[in-house]
Amino acid sequence: MSLKMINIQKYLFFALLMLFSTFSFAQKKENFVIVIDAGHGGKDIGARGVADYEKNITLDVSLKLGALIEKNNPDVKVVYTRKTDVFLELWERTRISNNNKANLFVSVHCNSAANKAAYGTETFVMGLNRSNETDEVSKRENSVIFLEKDREIYEKFNPNDPEAVIAFEIMNAAYKEQSIRFADLVEKNFVNFQKRHSRGVKQANFHVLRGNASPSVLVEIGFISNQDEGTYLASDEGKKSTAETLYQAFLTYKKEYDRRNGVVAEEDKPKVEKKVEKPLEGKKLKVKVLTSRIKYSPSSPQLKGLTDLEVVQDGDDYIYYYGDTDMRSRADELLAVAKRKGFSNSQIVEFDLNKRLEGGKNYRIQFMTSNKRYRDKDDKYNGLVNVLRVKEGSIHKYYFGADKTLQQAQKTLEQVQSKGFKNAFVVTFNGEVPM
Ligand SMILES: [Zn+2]
Repeated sequence: MSLKMINIQKYLFFALLMLFSTFSFAQKKENFVIVIDAGHGGKDIGARGVADYEKNITLDVSLKLGALIEKNNPDVKVVYTRKTDVFLELWERTRISNNNKANLFVSVHCNSAANKAAYGTETFVMGLNRSNETDEVSKRENSVIFLEKDREIYEKFNPNDPEAVIAFEIMNAAYKEQSIRFADLVEKNFVNFQKRHSRGVKQANFHVLRGNASPSVLVEIGFISNQDEGTYLASDEGKKSTAETLYQAFLTYKKEYDRRNGVVAEEDKPKVEKKVEKPLEGKKLKVKVLTSRIKYSPSSPQLKGLTDLEVVQDGDDYIYYYGDTDMRSRADELLAVAKRKGFSNSQIVEFDLNKRLEGGKNYRIQFMTSNKRYRDKDDKYNGLVNVLRVKEGSIHKYYFGADKTLQQAQKTLEQVQSKGFKNAFVVTFNGEVPM
């Protein structure tokens, strides 16, 4: 290729580049700025969850939320207070927000409580209402100040000084209604979109919200001190779903903002499609976590804290299943939980509920083993009748029911469990002989 040709190509390339950049610049009319603040970071780990630190979960959720907005809302400028695991003082977060003339400030946090049973989401707006409960949260979220250099900055505001309170209330009032509106949308979406438990919209004195010249909320996306919620929020699926929930709230809020500001709504704007997943018909998905010659008790350390495992005897082996669902997405979540617990070879198994066993094969429920031989209709059976007794060595095993399909066997199992035999499980038989 001659030098001249290269130059022409180069020229054309730059000319096109200029054209496209002018074009995209002209199209990019940003009329709204959202500041997304991933709580904590760096040396400030936030709360210590069952599966991960707060700072890591808040960062991932914030980045996912921002990515959704960047992808679908070209008229919105997304500003992150942090995009990596760095320490940031609270006033810096506020400064970033004000410098960018934010229209909305969203601070993402995770809750934590000494009571491991506590769970659910809550969204805070700035307020001086005092209650012991919200005090706990604000104390924790404000505590980072003790890691910061310029502590005096925060001491300017004294909630016991009536003048300071009045000055604050005047500034805060301008944004309060909109802050509450967004907080309300967030909590409603947690319930409607994600089926989470909402603890509601609350007011508290947060340093990270106080200096903002914009509607501002602090979202506690759940309790990472809670085994289930903490595991869920640390999972990819949990973070993704939480980000989508916040995004849905943002979309509604932005639409209302546009309407107030006379922006014509573009109904055909791309949105995140809500996946409408249909349950599988006549099928169940379970996660097979373990196959063992040993039947472990539910509290056994070999089960690594996974609860409600279903045990099915298959020949000499016991197969341990976790969960039971007819939704693919739920099965994926269950698989992720099992793997995180350390069952790295776990796999999803599909069960055809209505498939009938061939020939004389059937499912029975083993509910008791004993070295004693009980009579028919013994009180020990808690009312179960037609019990089959199988002798193995010196042990008698007691079985109830004889079903051809797994669906029926599941129902029988529930019936047996309701009689007090919580550890009962399904065994496949050929006639009256365990297989
Ligand atoms: Zn926090």
